[in-house]
Amino acid sequence: MKEIRKKSIDEATNELLIRAYKTKTDVIWDRAEAAQPQCGFGRLSICCSDCSEGPCRVNPFAVVPQLTVCGRTQEGLVSHRLLKRVTDGAVALAGLARDFGADVESGVAQAVYMTDDGMLAPADNVARMAEVGEAAAKILLLIRAAKERVYGKTEPGAVAVNMGALRADAANVVLMGHVAPQIVEAFRKAAAKSGVPFNLAAVCGAEAGAGLSVLTNYDSQEMPLLTGAVDLLVVGSQCVMPATVALAKAGNTAVMVSASLDTDRKIGEAIQVATQAFERRSGKSVQIPSAVERLHTGYTAENSKQVLKALKEESARSFVKGVVYLGGCGTVANTQDAQIVQTAERLLSEGYLVVTAGCAGAALAKAGMCRPEYAVREGFKNITEIGVPAVLHIGSCHDVGEFLAIAQNAKEQSIPVFAILQEIGRNKIWSTAIAFAAKGIRTYVDAGEMGSLPEMKLPGELLPLSEFLKFITKSTEVATAR
Ligand code: SF4
Ligand code: SF4
Repeated sequence: MKEIRKKSIDEATNELLIRAYKTKTDVIWDRAEAAQPQCGFGRLSICCSDCSEGPCRVNPFAVVPQLTVCGRTQEGLVSHRLLKRVTDGAVALAGLARDFGADVESGVAQAVYMTDDGMLAPADNVARMAEVGEAAAKILLLIRAAKERVYGKTEPGAVAVNMGALRADAANVVLMGHVAPQIVEAFRKAAAKSGVPFNLAAVCGAEAGAGLSVLTNYDSQEMPLLTGAVDLLVVGSQCVMPATVALAKAGNTAVMVSASLDTDRKIGEAIQVATQAFERRSGKSVQIPSAVERLHTGYTAENSKQVLKALKEESARSFVKGVVYLGGCGTVANTQDAQIVQTAERLLSEGYLVVTAGCAGAALAKAGMCRPEYAVREGFKNITEIGVPAVLHIGSCHDVGEFLAIAQNAKEQSIPVFAILQEIGRNKIWSTAIAFAAKGIRTYVDAGEMGSLPEMKLPGELLPLSEFLKFITKSTEVATAR
C-alpha cells in the first residue's frame, strides 16, 4: 500500500488495513497497486482473444480506424465484450436461481446461451443484449419467488452492519458471497439448537429474509478475517475472491463451500467445526473494530406500497420527484464506498427516494443511510416519520427482482423510476442493468472499462436498450434524469 490515496471511507476497513500493514498481510489494495500499469486496451474493451489468430487490439487514437485480423471494428470489439459480460452475468443469475430451487425453464436458459464463435456485427450484438435482458429479468423474478418460498413474506427489520457486528463472545460464522437461502435457514436452525452462542453474518449481500447482520462489501471481504474472530467461513458460489479463501486457510480459519452443506448431518458438522474454533480462541484477544451501524432492510414491493403512496402525495407539494435504484459492486480504482454514498446523497437532495441492494447497499448502510433518522428532511418527512428510511434496502444484488416489482407499482402511480448501476464489478450487475433497460427503466451506468461505448451507433428500434446504451456515461449526469 505504497500510494497515499485513501482506500476507503469506511473506518472499520481503514482500521483493519493498518492491521494488515503491520502484519505484512497483502490485501486487495496491495495487489491492485502491484498490478499497475493495467492494460489500457483491456480497460477500454478493445482487445480480443476469442480465437488463435489473435490476440488482437485496435488503437483508439488511430487516424484511420483499425481492424482486427478477422475485421472487427472498435465498436465490434466493445459490443461483443459487453454482450459476453451481459450473457455471463445472466448465466450467473440463472445458476443462483437453480441453486435457490427455481425451475429455470429451457427457453430462458436458451436465451442466455452464447458462443464466442458467433461473430456478430455491433447492431446484432445489441439486439442479442435485448433478448438476454428480457431473460435476465425473468430469472431475477424466479430468484425472488424461490427465496420467498424459503423465507416466506419478508417484513422490514433492523440488523447490524459493519465489522462491529462480529462478536468476541460468540461463534462467528461468516457467509460470504451468494449462499442459497435453504443453507442459510438450515444454519440458523442448527445454530439455535446448538446450545452455543452463534453469530451468523453475511458479506456482500444482506439476506434480508433471514435477518443476518452484514459485515462489509466485496472489496473489503478479506477484512473480517483480520479480526481473528471468524470461526468458520462459508463461501457461496459467486463473488468470493480466491485471495480470501487463501487468507482464511493461512490463518487456520476453516473454510466450507456452501453447496457442499446439503444435508443436516453436514450442517451439524459445520456447526461443530465453528464451535471448536470458538472454544479454541476463548480467552484470546481479537481485534474487532467498534464501527457498527443499524441497517433497516427487507423492503419489498408489497410492504413498500404505503411508501410509494406517501411519495406520490408528497410530490404534489414538494421537491420529491421519484424513485431511483442505486446498485453496483465498488472498485479499488476509487476510494471504497465514496462515490456510491455521494450519488445517494445527491439523489436524496434532488428529491429521489433511493432503493438499494448488494454491495452498494452495504456501502450506504455502513454510512448510516439505511436508517429512518438519516434523511429526515423536507419531502421525505412523511416517510421517515413512519419509521421507513428514504434509502430502502431490499437485500442482496440478486434480490433486484423486488425492484422490478417496485418499479411496476411506481409506474402504475405515474411515479418516475430510474436506475443507476455505479462501479459495476461483476457481470451479474451488467446483466441486471440490461434487464432493467429491457423492462423500460431508464438505466445509467458508470461506463468504466466500457469507455468507448458512447461512440457506438445504435439501432433506433431497440428503444429501451438503445436508450440505455446511449446513456452509458458517467453517473454524474444523473441530474438530467428527470
Ligand atoms: S478479433 Fe477476430 S481474429 Fe482477433 S482474436 Fe478476436 S476473433 Fe480472433
Ligand atoms: S454487488 Fe457485485 S460484488 Fe457484490 S455480491 Fe453483487 S455481484 Fe458480487
